Amino acid sequence: MHYHCSSPEMRAPLSTVISRQNSSSKLLQSFSFSTSSNIKTLKQTHANLIRTQGIHNPLLIGKLIADIATSHPSNLPYARSVFSQVQTQPNTFTWNSLIRGYAHCQNPTEAIALFRLMLCNGVSPNNYTYPFALKASASLPDPCVGLSLHGSLIRRGFEDFDEYIQTSLINFYASCGSVDVACKLFDKCPVRDVTTWNALIKGYIECERYNDAIRVFRVMQDRSKVKGDEITMLAVVSACAHLGALEVGRWMHAYIDRNRMRTSLNLATALVNMYVKCGEIEIASSLFRGMKERDVRVWSVMISGLAIHGLGKEALGLFYEMQSIGINPDSVTLTAVLSACSHSGLVNEGLKLLDRMQIDYLVEPTIEHYGCIVDLLGRAGRLKEALGLIQRIPLKPDVALWGALLVACRVHKDVDMGEKVAKEMLELDPHHAGAHVFLSNVYASYKKWELVEEVRNSMKDQKIRKPPGSSLIELDGVVHEFVSGDSSHPDSQKIYLMLDEFRRIRRMKEHQPFSGQMLFDIEEEEDKEVCLSQHSEKLAVAFGLIKTKPGSQLRIVKNLRICEDCHSLMKMVSEFFKRDVIVRDRSRFHHFRNGDCSCKEYW
Ligand code: ZN
Ligand code: ZN
Repeated sequence: MHYHCSSPEMRAPLSTVISRQNSSSKLLQSFSFSTSSNIKTLKQTHANLIRTQGIHNPLLIGKLIADIATSHPSNLPYARSVFSQVQTQPNTFTWNSLIRGYAHCQNPTEAIALFRLMLCNGVSPNNYTYPFALKASASLPDPCVGLSLHGSLIRRGFEDFDEYIQTSLINFYASCGSVDVACKLFDKCPVRDVTTWNALIKGYIECERYNDAIRVFRVMQDRSKVKGDEITMLAVVSACAHLGALEVGRWMHAYIDRNRMRTSLNLATALVNMYVKCGEIEIASSLFRGMKERDVRVWSVMISGLAIHGLGKEALGLFYEMQSIGINPDSVTLTAVLSACSHSGLVNEGLKLLDRMQIDYLVEPTIEHYGCIVDLLGRAGRLKEALGLIQRIPLKPDVALWGALLVACRVHKDVDMGEKVAKEMLELDPHHAGAHVFLSNVYASYKKWELVEEVRNSMKDQKIRKPPGSSLIELDGVVHEFVSGDSSHPDSQKIYLMLDEFRRIRRMKEHQPFSGQMLFDIEEEEDKEVCLSQHSEKLAVAFGLIKTKPGSQLRIVKNLRICEDCHSLMKMVSEFFKRDVIVRDRSRFHHFRNGDCSCKEYW
């Protein structure tokens, strides 16, 4: 965190440090401390100190250790060895610089060990020590260390000392998942700069509370004069991407332009990703084309964007284009391009790429790459080949890999293979909800009711539940969330009337709700107790219809895969109610228009 680096104590030239600590300035002048982080220069200074006996002066040696520790993470062992040779007790400043060094180089355990050692040596921490130690504890898996630090700083009277400490506390609570505590501390904080706001916004994002992150950003704009910086914008733009909130995302983009913020490569990539995830592949593409600098990451974002929109050929084109201008694809790019093949049924291209990966791109195939190929073969109905691949690969298949095959077994109604696959999955993950449901459905289809009972009891005993389906829809810059069977929305009554209307229209068009799938309804969809007609995306689209006029667009983001019944309903909505409906499900985008879907039933 950059506020740590800019803390006055660390920036202070040596003269200030020394005069603050009442030392003779003459001694100082005899040593030139370079601000350079060059290790050679630092070693020269070290040699000078040894030659002139300056090594015994605690202030000079302290400054040297601080300079080494903060120069580069790789110099920390050197700083540590100088530190261990100091004969007198190092002062707080010296301890701080080492703790800071470890906290910043992702070695939080060492930073905390040093903090404890400092206390054991009877050296008192000051207001600079706590932000460094809190930063370290924020990256530890166990929040206990940070909590005890909080206690310690309260005892020493530092809690309300300054905004560095307060921001560090907010950051700590936000990063260990206690964003509500972070929020309380934030409210108490008298001075809030952009770092304080960022800590809270990032906390909400880490807890996947994207709507709250955007809400905090709005409050920051409306009630304080603090302008967002790049960190803020990266956070809120990614929140829009998760929510599929195009209107808000566009506003964020305009905010960046209006405030003439420098669009770094990271920020530009986040914007491209946001437009991709909001279904605006053309805007994403033109933004991507306009970028002055493009690294492998943004190429991968664009390729995977084309993939989830079912534009496989275009994705492949981009994949070859990036190579033609000398950018080498990495493992992520290859996952993107393989998933493009799978979403567009480009079976041969995908298989060829897998074969050539190691030779042409020096990328070792990972379980994700194999997952794309299993998916690719599975969608194309080549189940035996997919199974052969899983059995042949040099890696240990995981649940997700088997899961890709299970989906294919469901789609192609291969009950026998599905049964074997589900059992493999339960070996690896005895709590897997999808595999349980699949098995119980398989046994039901064989009319083996005892086995059905057995599977259901095991689910009950282990308290296995499928994740609830939920859908988001953005209207007028506000994101509304619906859970399957939900009746908590203020407009719930109207929504349920609209669902009745759907049933009436479908009956009229003799379009019965699809029921054949129910038997094989696995993984993707919601609990069977929740009626098919109340799936979350149906509630969301009904709400969208109530609130908009014909000709508008409705954008829905669903956490699971859309089921066949909802898919056919969306087609009907797009034709009968004259709305374009864009659904992003867990796997891809579906653009519904005039009764057709862009996926061409291939999903
Ligand atoms: Zn559904
Ligand atoms: Zn579709």
